[in-house]
Formats: sequence, C-alpha cells, structure tokens
Amino acid sequence: MPELPDIRIYVNRINKAVAGCSLEAFKLHHPFVLRTVTPSPDQFLDKKVIDVHRLGKRVVLQFDNELYIVIHLMVSGRLRFHPKEKKPNKRLILATLQFSSGTIHFTEASKKRRASIHLADESSIHDHQRSGIDATSCSFEDFCNALKSKNRTIKRALCDPSIIDGIGNAYSDEILHHAQMAPFKTTQRMSLQELKRVYESARQQLDYWTTFLDEKLGDNFPDKVTAFHPEMAAHGRFGKPCPRCGKPIQRVRYATNELNYCPICQTDGKLLSDRSLARLLKDSWPKKV
Ligand SMILES: [Zn+2]
Repeated sequence: MPELPDIRIYVNRINKAVAGCSLEAFKLHHPFVLRTVTPSPDQFLDKKVIDVHRLGKRVVLQFDNELYIVIHLMVSGRLRFHPKEKKPNKRLILATLQFSSGTIHFTEASKKRRASIHLADESSIHDHQRSGIDATSCSFEDFCNALKSKNRTIKRALCDPSIIDGIGNAYSDEILHHAQMAPFKTTQRMSLQELKRVYESARQQLDYWTTFLDEKLGDNFPDKVTAFHPEMAAHGRFGKPCPRCGKPIQRVRYATNELNYCPICQTDGKLLSDRSLARLLKDSWPKKV
C-alpha cells in the first residue's frame, strides 16, 4: 500500500501537473468510488486547482470555489497523469479527472473496491483529518503521548492510523531497523531514550525515502508504486545481509503480512518465532488501512 513517502511524491507531482489548471471533465466510472452525496461532481467543473496537499494518507485537491476532492488510495489505488489523451484501462479505472494540462487516471488493481473519492466543502473537509499524528511534523512529546496512549507493540503502533497516520508495514520495518529497536517491544515499556530513537528514525527514514523516490523519478510521474525497494535495509529482505552487521535479515509471517528485522541489530540475537510473535500481535494486528 502507498505509505507517506509515496503519498508525498503523488502530492508533489500532481501539484506540478494540475495546479492552476481547470477541471474540464470529471468522470466516475464506478458509482461506488464516490462516497459522498454533496457537493456534487458538477460543482467542480471549470474550477481551478489552487493547491494539492495531503491529509494523512489522503491526497487532497483544493479548488478555487472552496471545494475539495479527497482521494484515498487504500491498498491498491493508484494515480497516473497523462499530458496527452489516453484511453483508460477499463478494467481498473475508477475515475478520470481531465484538466487543461492533462488527465489524472485513478485506478484500483483489486476487486475489493476499497479506494475512494470524497467530495468536501470547507466544513466537511475536517472530517477527513484522522486522529493519528503525523510523525514527520509532530513534537517528540506528542509522539510519546500517541504511542503510549495504547499499550501496543511498537510495530503495531507505528502501523495504526489512529496512533500515527501514514506509516505501514514497509516503512515501519525500515524505521525499527534504523532505530535498532525490537518490533515486539510494547510502547508503555519503552524508555524515553528508546522512544527518542524511534522518533528520530521515523523522521529521518520518511524524509530519506521521500528524497530517494523523488530523485529516482526525476521529472516523471510515479508509474509503479511499490513497498519493496532493493535499497531497503530490512523490508522484503529476508535472508539478505543486513547492511549494518552483514547477518541475514529474518522474518515473522502472518496470514497476509510479513515483518522483517535483523536479530543482531534489533533483538539481541533472538530469533522471533512466527507463532509466538503472531500470538503476541494477534489481537492488535492492523486489519484496516
Ligand atoms: Zn544487523
């Protein structure tokens, strides 16, 4: 699923592509994608985009009539921009936003149909603010309060959008590896120094990966958004050498997820068994994005 660095890149590229441009056509190819009744899509026609920003993991297009299009990609939603007219892939397309500068295609490569569009005005846009904090801009105090509000494993807490919004399985693996922190440590038992390490690693890693993705793309719009990069230290690197100590990265598998960690750098050499950790995380593994 797209996480905060991916969303930041989308926001940046959509801003470059359509800011200052008018929406010429707004087509919803599947009625379920639109989850709101008012305002209506017609109210956006011929209006100009004045800003593109994000609310947690949602991409928000703000128009000059104080209306907003809020796009939530969930797991499989993706955005593409085509400066010239291009026929959408009928099987995947959810919506088309045609601007004077080109067309945004909103697609979803899954039959689960979780990706969504909400249309909002000045009052309802606030409903899209999630309770989770933004790790890249919050204070250390707010970070500690959020993490300690529920006694969860640090892995789970980082992935819970009601605690911290924007981090998923991939970047939580990278953050914990960078902080040399055991994924199963529970937040209320973490010392201030340990929390500080995770706080600083979260900011460092999310910024590092945003810059990395930005430079890798150059002037291009992201075509393929993936949670796996060969340059990552732990995530998706099972059996590969840890870049810090050289020992193989390990994994813990769940029904649909896998976490990766380095036993030397993160767990005092302990190998976490799938079963014991799965039991520990059983009730608290994130079920929703
Ligand atoms: Zn290591």
